Amino acid sequence: MNLYGSVGQIKGVGTKKLAALKKMNIHTVEDLIFNYPRDYQDLSKVTQISKLEMNCSTLIKAKVDLIIKGNTGYKKKQTLKILVSDDTGVLEIVFFNAKYIMDYFRVNEEYDFYGKITDEYGKIKMSHPEYFKSLGNESLGILPVYSLTFGISQSEIRKWQKECIWLVTEIEDYLPKEVINRNRLCDLQYALMNIHQPKDGIKLREAKYRLIFDELFCLQAGLLSIKLRDLSETRSIVYSKDIKFQDYIKTLSFKLTEAQYKVLEEINQDMESMKPMNRLIQGDVGSGKTVVAEATIYKAVKSGYQAALMAPTEILAKQHYQGLKRNFEPHGIRVGFLSGSMKVKERRETLHALEKGLIHVLVGTHAIIQTGVEFNKLGLVITDEQHRFGVHQRISLASKGENVDIMVMTATPIPRTLAVIIYGDLDISIIDQMPPGRKEIITRGTDSKGRNLAYEFLEKEIEKGRQAYVVTPLIEESQSLNAVSTEEVFDELKNRWGNKKIEVLHGDMKQADKNRIMEEFYQGTIQILVATVVIEVGINVPNASVMLIENAERFGLAQLHQLRGRVGRGEDQSYCLLINNGKTEISMQRENIMVSSSDGFYIAEKDLELRGPGEFFGTRQHGLPDLKIADLIKHIKILNLVREEAKLVLKNDPFLTDNDNEKLRIKVEKMFNSEEDFSLSL
Ligand code: ADP
Ligand code: MG
Repeated sequence: MNLYGSVGQIKGVGTKKLAALKKMNIHTVEDLIFNYPRDYQDLSKVTQISKLEMNCSTLIKAKVDLIIKGNTGYKKKQTLKILVSDDTGVLEIVFFNAKYIMDYFRVNEEYDFYGKITDEYGKIKMSHPEYFKSLGNESLGILPVYSLTFGISQSEIRKWQKECIWLVTEIEDYLPKEVINRNRLCDLQYALMNIHQPKDGIKLREAKYRLIFDELFCLQAGLLSIKLRDLSETRSIVYSKDIKFQDYIKTLSFKLTEAQYKVLEEINQDMESMKPMNRLIQGDVGSGKTVVAEATIYKAVKSGYQAALMAPTEILAKQHYQGLKRNFEPHGIRVGFLSGSMKVKERRETLHALEKGLIHVLVGTHAIIQTGVEFNKLGLVITDEQHRFGVHQRISLASKGENVDIMVMTATPIPRTLAVIIYGDLDISIIDQMPPGRKEIITRGTDSKGRNLAYEFLEKEIEKGRQAYVVTPLIEESQSLNAVSTEEVFDELKNRWGNKKIEVLHGDMKQADKNRIMEEFYQGTIQILVATVVIEVGINVPNASVMLIENAERFGLAQLHQLRGRVGRGEDQSYCLLINNGKTEISMQRENIMVSSSDGFYIAEKDLELRGPGEFFGTRQHGLPDLKIADLIKHIKILNLVREEAKLVLKNDPFLTDNDNEKLRIKVEKMFNSEEDFSLSL
């Protein structure tokens, strides 16, 4: 068997299994070895029935005393109950829908059972345990539990794993020796053996530590390497000192805030120095990031370069396009637009003008990073709402020019403690102040009882000439989920106010329809927009003063904050009304946080606290590669350690080009390239 060959070499892995494994991103035997268990079953210790603890998974050895077969419930599902005992006590074990094992157990024989003890209304039992013919005193040890996909069973993947694990002897360590020694890490082969077939708890812990360390190390090495690459390129663009942001800013109808000025100063230093700009602009919703981007683009274009502004959705890109066009035309700066839904002819004309340098600023969706989009002299790349893009996309865009400057903007407030790590490759500027005169948005929560009042309030605002958003969690009515949909609410509001102009907006609609509806909402012809979270990012309609959110319990706090940020963008007092149908303590806490705070950072931290890191990071909001074993929050201590180690290694070999570091480089590249079409070559 060959380590780097297909998993098809393993006995029992045919075409179907290959396809299923491919879905799990497992192609080679090596991939299978680096596919770590997600959990373990400890079958190394037998627990006596009298010592069983609630809700813990445990192994017992017990003799079957009585077997009760029955038909119960819906569709007469077959239930199997067995009473078992050991020297210390008796226990009831239940299997529901148990046709396939009805005749498996024999009275008076001994079996091993592995499962959780639960207490249902005072009745203690073990439901659906795994069961084995008793092995006497021989122990099964600690068994790995792998993530599965349709078509592959736990026992199959365990078997395959066992069959090829001996090949770890051919895997060479990729971490530098001194890093291993300094951190007293265990041997890689030992770690791989023990992550799959741990001899005991201690060895498992050693193995886990090593592999978590490795994964975070590769992550940090990759991010730092990108940053160092930029730093080392001595000849980056130096924009003209004679072109001043102020020349643009003085033409605006408002004065910049101090925070905006401070951030622009930091940007200016990047722009006028040899150092390439690689900067993250963080600012809460409504803090005025766009105008900062505009001033930056102004300076780049007036210095003779092209600029690109990329937004995550077409709606947002369109909005930026219109805004920039309006603001830049008086300055003789030409703005172009590119998106996936454009007509071929239009697209061709735009690309041509871009290549000729007739378009100075290209605004668009990720369509602008595709091949075939050629700039004449690209100098500056800005991505808005950075959290929607991966590291790769940013780099793809940057690779359209030579030594371009990169600026990314986000309103997703990542808790401070994590920002440095997640955006490890970027310098950070924060706009920590709102434009003056903004009235705080008044937020109120209610349950379904107050819903009617909330809509009456909304109607009053509409009557004053304002506009409103109503956000729902679903698009269509659902039988299984207890939540309202845009369709239902739209019908309801149409019934209620037949004379008002109401429209629906959601992600499944055709792009052209979405554009038209957004346009009409800007113009004010649509009064109420019933939408899903498609409107979550960036939309700016200052006349909208009410954000009513249905089933607020179904949205994350950070998301609610983003949604709320769609109002309060003009002079009028704005309102956010939360219809909270959640009955839990946590949903009340969340409502209180929203009502009492408008600070995005505070809300993000609370979000993390209440939801846990799994969910927060599960959504891949950060645009980092997927982590298999490490957790950015649980393992923050290791992360800090690893960061320093990675810095040391890269100091001597910034791009991992030394022969000694070749294996590490391959590992890092693999991590950053997985599942993405964009290649990152370090
Ligand atoms: P975000 O940071 O959420 O992207 P925007 O850039 O869309 O915020 O700005 C929100 C609104 O505030 C826009 O209408 C913008 O013109 C306005 N704005 C930005 N800066 C200022 C300022 N210093 N004073 C007054 N209004 C401002
Ligand atoms: Mg914005």
